Amino acid sequence: MELRELTALELGAAIKKGEVSMAEAAQAALDRISAQAGVLNSFITVTGQQALDRAARLQAGARDAQSPLYGVPMAIKDNICTRGVKTSCASKILGDFEPLYDAAVVERLAGAGAVSLGKLNMDEFAMGSTSETSFYGPVKNPWDLERVPGGSSGGAAAAVAAGMGWYAIGSDTGGSIRQPASYCGVTGIKPTYGTVSRYGLIAYASSLDQIGPLCRDAADCAAVLDVLMGHDRRDATSLPGRYSDWSGSGPRMDYGRLLEGLTGDIRGMKIGLPEDCFGDGLDGAVRTAVLAVSDVLEGRGAEIVPLPFPVLEYAVPTYYIIAAAEASSNLSRFDGVKYGWRADGYEGLADLYRKTRTQGFGPEVKRRILLGTFVLSSGYYDAYYKKALQAKAVIKSAFDRVFRQCDMLLTPVAPTTAPRLGESLDDPLQMYLGDIYTVSVNLAGLPALSMPCGFDRRGLPIGAQLIGPHFGEGALLNTAHAFQLDTDYHRRTPKGGDPA
Ligand code: GLN
Repeated sequence: MELRELTALELGAAIKKGEVSMAEAAQAALDRISAQAGVLNSFITVTGQQALDRAARLQAGARDAQSPLYGVPMAIKDNICTRGVKTSCASKILGDFEPLYDAAVVERLAGAGAVSLGKLNMDEFAMGSTSETSFYGPVKNPWDLERVPGGSSGGAAAAVAAGMGWYAIGSDTGGSIRQPASYCGVTGIKPTYGTVSRYGLIAYASSLDQIGPLCRDAADCAAVLDVLMGHDRRDATSLPGRYSDWSGSGPRMDYGRLLEGLTGDIRGMKIGLPEDCFGDGLDGAVRTAVLAVSDVLEGRGAEIVPLPFPVLEYAVPTYYIIAAAEASSNLSRFDGVKYGWRADGYEGLADLYRKTRTQGFGPEVKRRILLGTFVLSSGYYDAYYKKALQAKAVIKSAFDRVFRQCDMLLTPVAPTTAPRLGESLDDPLQMYLGDIYTVSVNLAGLPALSMPCGFDRRGLPIGAQLIGPHFGEGALLNTAHAFQLDTDYHRRTPKGGDPA
């Protein structure tokens, strides 16, 4: 068996037993990266020597390591700060930015013995659904090089699918972990808002952004999330303490316990099937594959509950108003003065701002800044931004209602499989509509995961989404794990950039 066929947990176990050395694992990943990365364009920065040095330094502790991921090579989306390593957000404006500090998740991963291979390509400032808006060029889908890997964590999904590291850390503002996971046939989870620190994540829309893992399977996701979750005083929205202490009689969640909870036993679990998510606009192969998931889960003793979810049509407009509004504010810090790139040949301060921002941002980012500035402007604030906040409250209460009838929802991740490169760039509105099943989750701050559940007739992966109530990660991961015990979609690997 090739090393790349192991899951992160399997590799971690082999490293602990001494069957595989950390250097061997890191070298195997780096060899894949040099063979594949140029074709797929999934990395912006490869830190090969640093990875090998760290592997050599940590090897002595492998046998006694507590972390099941000790020594396992992985990679990080380029909007997450890494000390001394370029963190560009796939933008020209941060092209030479080397943070002076590590993001909270990077510190936690380092403590768990992770070996980073480098920084992953993405949509510029995480704005997009295709990973084509990167200043460093588009990422390719390893299942079909003429198609997009999804976005904005497209580099992360492509890297994990093609064996360039055993897991990746991405971010999800409106679907950016789940949708690329779906297009690339990997498993990814966006946790409950506030459970993973955003300290050191370069903000897109702060009330929606969450960091999470993209992995081979649900068990790996549980192991990585166990490392990532926890309170952080440096993030004002980080939830305090152990959630079982904090939430009183509400749902309970203990840090570091997700992996232990994977029993595969889902008897009596009520799984809601929102009829509105299976209507017009959904590709036939996607519908069939996602509905087939409910059969597998029923076979394991879950109960399927069809129910209405009538707020779906408000999700995309509400999300794009709120996300753009927050983006326009968050991105005002990139002005060519404090840090990052600065345009040449300016006359005075206003001209410095204008030239730097005009030349430093790509078209999709500028579109969002303009839209966000418009919806926040005094004449339009009530009609757009305030209205969007009201719609967000309506969406939240619709979720509260359905979670009184079931434990989680099963939906598609995206209406289609991966589109062709270039298609979405011509029609941004069409691209925004493709986010219909993912964005409401972020508006409500809920956890949701994406898992492979089939292929269309072109051989492109299809993903199913499970959405849970706040702190429902454990049940989502256990349900995905149960599904993966009975299926092998998550075990299939793409040809990627390998020679024919
Ligand atoms: N596609 C959505 C957007 O463009 C979501 C992106 C994300 O989750 N970062 O905003």
